[in-house]
Amino acid sequence: MADKNYSFFGAVEKSFNKAAEFTKWERGILEQIKICNAVYQIRFPIKRDDGSIEVIEAYRVQHSHHKTPCKGGIRFAAEVNQDEVMALAALMTYKCAIVNVPFGGGKGGIKINPKKYSAYELEKITRRYTAELIKKNFIGPGTDVPAPDYGTGEREMAWILDTYSAMHPGEIDAAGCVTGKPVTQGGVRGRREATGLGVFFGLKEVCHMKDIMEKRGLTTGVEGKRVAVQGLGNVGYNTAKFFSEGGAKIIGLAEYEGAIWSEKGLDVEAVFQHRKKTGSILNFPGAHNFDKSSDMLEMECDILIPAALENVINGENAPRVKAKIIGEAANGPLTPEADEVFIKKGILVVPDMYLNAGGVTVSYFEWLKNLSHVRYGRLEKRFTENLNSHILGQLEELSGKKVKEGEREFIMHGPDEVDLVYSGLEETMSSATHEIMDAWKSNPKIPDMRTAAYVVAINKVGTSYAELGIFP
Ligand code: NAD
Repeated sequence: MADKNYSFFGAVEKSFNKAAEFTKWERGILEQIKICNAVYQIRFPIKRDDGSIEVIEAYRVQHSHHKTPCKGGIRFAAEVNQDEVMALAALMTYKCAIVNVPFGGGKGGIKINPKKYSAYELEKITRRYTAELIKKNFIGPGTDVPAPDYGTGEREMAWILDTYSAMHPGEIDAAGCVTGKPVTQGGVRGRREATGLGVFFGLKEVCHMKDIMEKRGLTTGVEGKRVAVQGLGNVGYNTAKFFSEGGAKIIGLAEYEGAIWSEKGLDVEAVFQHRKKTGSILNFPGAHNFDKSSDMLEMECDILIPAALENVINGENAPRVKAKIIGEAANGPLTPEADEVFIKKGILVVPDMYLNAGGVTVSYFEWLKNLSHVRYGRLEKRFTENLNSHILGQLEELSGKKVKEGEREFIMHGPDEVDLVYSGLEETMSSATHEIMDAWKSNPKIPDMRTAAYVVAINKVGTSYAELGIFP
């Protein structure tokens, strides 16, 4: 991020190479998995509100075509550059493979600080960017499907959909050209909080692994864990909220203007509202202030969750980090140098490319919904409720006893869309966690969970290329 010499794509390649040693693929296949298949650099002008013309720098990268469409978010940030977008696209390929989402990796980025533009200017930039993607066939339900990322959300996704639909009149599957849309525009319930919920489900699964926890002097389960989160945006806020609801204690929260700490635990919603009202996370009643936000990363806690940007824990500050588990909710928050430090210190790093896969998993559900043109649960909800009611009635008649009211409601309830999305996500995160842990345990030479996750991903993408054959 701040370090000009740091190559994020280089870091991804380094982790890839480390893991490739533990696979049996020939060099050519590994090379093909690793490289970016297509990189689209875009420059276009927009007229600012004051009448001046500004040239905008933007990218879309399709890392892998072993499966289509390509999938990955669009980031609006002043630091966006080609290296970063390539790295994020590569992570998407591995992420999709790990959670069995049948997409290739992609990513987009526009080099702007969205806070410095009006809503009208942002709409013009988003729509023009979409038009540029359409020109080169870099967007479409079957080719490349963007989603939200740092600095973007439902509003931007709705603009993308509207631009795409306007330029593809009559295309019946147009809604599948982008995910993370508002529910009224074909979005799926549960997508907004999906990445944070996935981070929670993934770490919960890890917290229930007795051997892993005992090794770090921790009890099993999420309950009572002391958790610190960096970044109170979409991913960080939802992660903190789900941990809190799961019985953990959120003791630290950091934003770019500073961080706060309270051993008694912080009320995440109250902190969020305090920041909204005062414009700063600092001076939250009863909490200690850190004027330098990154100092919070070095505090003693059970689980540290960086959920802002890449390269925040590196060779310089890693030796001072005291957390027992680090959950990478952001993409690339740790550098390979930090990984080496944590391997030596026995700190468990739960890697980004699987831990934050909740977003793409639920995006996959949204895309399927768009292609099937029907809301999840619409067909089976009433049928399930009728059936449950009948079973319950029979059981009560046979046993001569009545089920308690709260239980009755729970048993009778037929699935709503959000129930199906949450359960699909939990199942996905749980099986991915076990698959990675099994790969790690199967080879004692694999040094860390990140390498194990890469091994799983490389094997899946490698199998895909090997079975497809290489187009002559
Ligand atoms: P966001 O824009 O909603 O939130 C990011 C937050 O981080 C903002 O509130 C920002 O002020 C804060 N921040 C920036 N620099 C900081 C710093 N130095 N210290 C503390 N806080 C800082 O973005 P997001 O969608 O939550 O994405 C966060 C990370 O998660 C990114 O790495 C992104 O690639 C990754 N991610 C996002 C999704 C998704 O569905 N949105 C999915 C997978 C991964």
